[in-house]
Amino acid sequence: MIRKTLLYLMFIAQISLSVYAQDPIAQKYSAEINPKITRKHLSILASDKYEGREAGKRGAEMAAAYIAKEFRKLNLLAPVNGSHLQDVQLIETSMIANSFEVNNSILKPGKDFWFSGSGEAKNIQVNEITFIGNRPESELKNIEIAGKVILIILNGNSSEQISRQNYLKSKKPALIVTLNTEERNAKYSHHSAVSLSVKNGIRESLPIRENAPGIIQISEDIANLMLSRSGKTVENLQKNNENLTTLQLKAEIKMSYGPVQRPLKSFNILGYLEGTDLKEEVLVYSAHYDHIGLNTDGGKDKVFNGADDDGSGTSGVLAIAKAFARAKKEGHGPRRSILFLMFTGEEKNLLGSEYYSLNPVFPMAKTITNLNIDMIGRIGFEYKNSPDSANYCFLVGADRLSSDLHKISENANAVYTKMKIDYKHNAPDDQIYYWSDHYNFAKSGVPVIFYYNGKHEDYHKGSDEISKINFHLLSKRAQLAYFTGWDLANRDKRPVVDVLPVRK
Ligand SMILES: [Zn+2]
Repeated sequence: MIRKTLLYLMFIAQISLSVYAQDPIAQKYSAEINPKITRKHLSILASDKYEGREAGKRGAEMAAAYIAKEFRKLNLLAPVNGSHLQDVQLIETSMIANSFEVNNSILKPGKDFWFSGSGEAKNIQVNEITFIGNRPESELKNIEIAGKVILIILNGNSSEQISRQNYLKSKKPALIVTLNTEERNAKYSHHSAVSLSVKNGIRESLPIRENAPGIIQISEDIANLMLSRSGKTVENLQKNNENLTTLQLKAEIKMSYGPVQRPLKSFNILGYLEGTDLKEEVLVYSAHYDHIGLNTDGGKDKVFNGADDDGSGTSGVLAIAKAFARAKKEGHGPRRSILFLMFTGEEKNLLGSEYYSLNPVFPMAKTITNLNIDMIGRIGFEYKNSPDSANYCFLVGADRLSSDLHKISENANAVYTKMKIDYKHNAPDDQIYYWSDHYNFAKSGVPVIFYYNGKHEDYHKGSDEISKINFHLLSKRAQLAYFTGWDLANRDKRPVVDVLPVRK
């Protein structure tokens, strides 16, 4: 507690020494960042037409085209060999059952069976299957099923049964075949593992869990076909289900499955505003325009609109770009250059920003700061019942690499926006610092600030809709990023990197 109090007093002292008067020019152009313009952008980006903007899918491509068009309208330069788009080609990997044969009958996926799997390609050929009865997990300890095909008959989806199935997976069978008698006629879900990585690059191995056994769901007819050579039926096995631990049964199973890859188009979008006397140095504003796409679980709301996540940040950065572009047009351009950077694939594990950090269009050593905005249009759980609910922002990262940056940020708020700034999520053990695109700049030694409203009940749900956005609050938080950036782009010295990073 003492340490904290001392630090707090030190901040107060620093702030009071460094508060400047308002810059009327910065103030003037901040009016471009307002509810009208942010609503205009967001009502397009978060509309159902954009299909939840999933990286590599049509909706994200439409969003990319919209953002590039807005950048052109603002006369932002296209810095990727004359284009606003930086290619981030993704590879989608899905697991496919190539063939599944039971006692010489060839079965059809999606009709006779439903497959989900992961890991490397596999060929399975066995002459017997192991039937696992309905005994509790604790009685399955000594069974040997590694490399075998096992058959489980389930009824319902109790957590006990799911836990039992997961336990069996850990014993590394070659294949788990399940019949769920409660869902005899149900349509089975067909969630094969799909993962994304970047072509010729990073994290080829990220996505698919290695060595987990494939799982096949079958109907009762197919189960009886599988049991036909052993003289058993589902019915008589079920009668004895309770009493059996395992049973070896004659059955000929041939199965082959493996990953199939296809390339997907995806882009980071860059708009560049050239500075004047310090133009070699670059300030980066960023937000991710991708979200998680369409809801395929058959619910009523088919689109994950991602209005807050991160339509709010994308709209905010577009408005900030307009403010700086207009200032420049009227003779008040920034001394340093500013790059407005909209990322793809944030929702796929920060792929777009990782790609940029490894293939920067402007050198990282000349990149003075990244101001990253991800979710600024809502009131999060922590502030639902707070008197500050309509006037707060979480800031993360400002003091982690540069003590200057923290002061500049505090000053911009004290002079202009006067919000309650909450550093709760900047605590060293808070994981948010690693959870959005700024982290890939921080990893490269570039100071960052992350602007964030905190989680809310609609996070990553179909209900993250534009009707729930507070545009006044969104615009005010974007203005805080704008004023901070105005100072960063125009001051004599770039923020010094003087704090040792804490590695994850
Ligand atoms: Zn996000």
